Amino acid sequence: MSRLELSTGPLPAAPQTRMNSNDRPHLTIRTDGRLLPSAPCNSQQILSKKYFAVPYCSSIFNICKMTSSSESTITIIGAGPVGLYTAFLLAKAGISVHIFEKEAAVLQSPRAIVYHPVVVEDMKRSGIFQDVLDVGYVGRTGLQWRLPKSTESLASLPSNDKATSILLGQHDLADIFLQRLVEYKHVKVQFSTALESFEEGNDEVNCNLSTSQTTGDGQTKFEHRTKYLIGADGARSTVRKKASIPYEGFAWEDFRMVAANMDYDIPRYNGWGDASFICDPELWAVVVYCGKGNVWRVASAERLVAGKEEEWDEEAGIKRLYGRLGKLLNGPTDTAKVLAIKPYSLHQRCAATFVRGRIILAGDAAHHTDWNALPDTQITNPVGGLGLATGLLDASFLGRCLERIFTNKEPDAAAVLAEYNEKRRKVFLENTSPIATANRNRLIGATEEARKERAEYFAKINKLDMDFLKELVENQMAMASA
Ligand SMILES: Cc1cc2nc3c(=O)[nH]c(=O)nc-3n(C[C@H](O)[C@H](O)[C@H](O)COP(=O)(O)OP(=O)(O)OC[C@H]3O[C@@H](n4cnc5c(N)ncnc54)[C@H](O)[C@@H]3O)c2cc1C
Repeated sequence: MSRLELSTGPLPAAPQTRMNSNDRPHLTIRTDGRLLPSAPCNSQQILSKKYFAVPYCSSIFNICKMTSSSESTITIIGAGPVGLYTAFLLAKAGISVHIFEKEAAVLQSPRAIVYHPVVVEDMKRSGIFQDVLDVGYVGRTGLQWRLPKSTESLASLPSNDKATSILLGQHDLADIFLQRLVEYKHVKVQFSTALESFEEGNDEVNCNLSTSQTTGDGQTKFEHRTKYLIGADGARSTVRKKASIPYEGFAWEDFRMVAANMDYDIPRYNGWGDASFICDPELWAVVVYCGKGNVWRVASAERLVAGKEEEWDEEAGIKRLYGRLGKLLNGPTDTAKVLAIKPYSLHQRCAATFVRGRIILAGDAAHHTDWNALPDTQITNPVGGLGLATGLLDASFLGRCLERIFTNKEPDAAAVLAEYNEKRRKVFLENTSPIATANRNRLIGATEEARKERAEYFAKINKLDMDFLKELVENQMAMASA
């Protein structure tokens, strides 16, 4: 058995105050665990797109010393945004936490980009918002629904100063969390290390992990003991599977979604704002500004023929994407430069429970609506940007629950975690899931009933029906648990 310990030795001094994005230390870890001083990815460089489409430099902690056993109060599997946000909140509460991530760096695939006011409010409370604001782009033009190529919108939901949305790639958000974790000595982050299995005892969980790092004694497998194990390991969660917690839900098999980041001046040729939902039974899509240069996310639907799902071939997929772009957008779409592309299949699922004994699920490991990436990644419905939003709010509530157990010493830990399970499952089943489904159906719906619902919905938005808008805001704010 061997243990990899975090060392902040070679890192620049831990920040005493919040740094702006240009000051932050940027370090890259190699699979052998050595730290490389990597090129900084400050906003200027991001603007020049130099680091945008490639796994640039998630700032990562140094791993340098191996010992024969390890333990932490809390262990998190998965250094995605949900795992890292949970770690940040626990770190602030003084709780020792160790994160294991199977990849060598934070995943870079094109996924979450929008963070709604309910998440912004939570980030303000947790003290991370200014960091996010430094790097992210504040949405200014609200959300429009439109037909393909249409410069006129069907409906327009304006943004306002009191309800700010932030546009920022989720890998950048993860990078911000990592930067802040550098401040805490009781947090360890270990990449290139996968959870394989665990055994749960009365007082602790014993995790079995494997690492691709070369260890001092040549071992690649080791054990780690923890009071609670959090599965923030995404939709194919090993933690959920090994805990035998089933997903309940269903799959949509008629379409898949292809998410692409591209360099194309959409406002110039189309006059569109930051975020557009494209309504069309075949060509439905979500088009969102990535907040940097001319980089846009176009997530467009691709019909699947039942029983004929082909393996994803990126070259062929990009060719088909250009075919759709010509029908979705105005201007010379053949000049658009595809920076990153990933296909996702669609489904809607929720874990039967988010807590079993000392095992806790959060984020996509606990729930995901509509979208399931092929075949190696799975994710949450981008129509409405609710997946990660719900996951970050899981993290927030879970952080407070664990603080009650470990800092406030509430005696009945099981009851506190039962509250987490009950409240967060309820939010997913009664808020996130129905809102995400309605968002999707509103884009696709071709039946008379769907058209009627859409027309009524748009009419209320366009005449700024205050009761209706208040209800929209309240439904979203209810995604946070008190
Ligand atoms: C195109 C698209 C657009 C989206 N847009 C939005 C949006 O605008 N807003 C929004 O809120 N949501 C959005 N989502 C959803 C969002 O991407 C997910 O909800 C989010 O990624 C969930 O984060 P997570 O941390 O739970 O999981 P992940 O980001 O999937 O992270 C899980 C991590 O666990 C690691 N892992 C897995 N197994 C193991 C193991 N055994 N051992 C160690 N590590 C492991 C993985 O490598 C990964 O790094 C979008 C999704 C897609 C596909």
